[in-house]
Amino acid sequence: MTAAQGPIADAVRDGTLPGRVWLYSNYHCNLACSYCLTESSPRSERRELTAAQMIAVAEQAKELGFTALGITGGEPFLLPWLPEAVLEMVQHLPLVLLNNGTLFVGERLERAAKLAHPGIALQISLDSHLPDINDMARGPDNFSKVVESVPRLLERGVQVRIATTTAGPLDSPALDPLKALVASWGVPADDHIVRPIVRRGRADERGLGVQAIARDIPSELCITADGAFWGSFGPTVRNGRLDTDLLLTRTILPLAVPANALLAAIGGMPQGADAALGIR
Ligand code: SF4
Repeated sequence: MTAAQGPIADAVRDGTLPGRVWLYSNYHCNLACSYCLTESSPRSERRELTAAQMIAVAEQAKELGFTALGITGGEPFLLPWLPEAVLEMVQHLPLVLLNNGTLFVGERLERAAKLAHPGIALQISLDSHLPDINDMARGPDNFSKVVESVPRLLERGVQVRIATTTAGPLDSPALDPLKALVASWGVPADDHIVRPIVRRGRADERGLGVQAIARDIPSELCITADGAFWGSFGPTVRNGRLDTDLLLTRTILPLAVPANALLAAIGGMPQGADAALGIR
């Protein structure tokens, strides 16, 4: 297979542009976490991408020279067509699929089991080894649902990563018991992501997390039903309104339009402090 050609492929190869493209599949969620960037809840406006749009993004991202995909929400697994669309997307690029890990029972578990593929990782949120602390931010019974789901997925051959969002220092020893729990499932330490609460969305309303400006947020292209944004922390919602400070363009396809808009925005932008803030 020949390597992708053009300015986007060149920028990804030389590290100017991150290789991952993010997609917000939807904004509604079965949970309503206290620090949610998108104010997601069961009542949120859905703002869904279609399966056809998501597959087109995957195909065009590969053609342009991007190297990976990320899917987030809202809770992607609320979309009944998601597993089949993801299996088509991974024909083009490897992907990570962020989710809250609470929906893997019955038929939904067996449909998720189809995602046992070397190019697909499910990234599941878990914030503490203490059920009460975890559930304070994420909702009742969240801890027990996640610790039941992770082994079920692993037994079925699905790759699992764990994401921990914390208000404390990223290297705090207080996280050691959680790291031990994750390791006990056989999830490698590199696949346990620890990141700060970013002060956008519901976290901003509640005064939680680290302040971050554009250059602190990894400059990954992020596609939503409302347009294309700078970074996966770009399309946040505050007081019911979409933040547009990091909006690049309302056009999402063809993908070359937002990709070139992002490349133009990056030009001359000084390096930020994202590595120091640990935002990822
Ligand atoms: S943080 Fe994730 S799981 Fe929690 S409400 Fe927001 S989208 Fe749902």
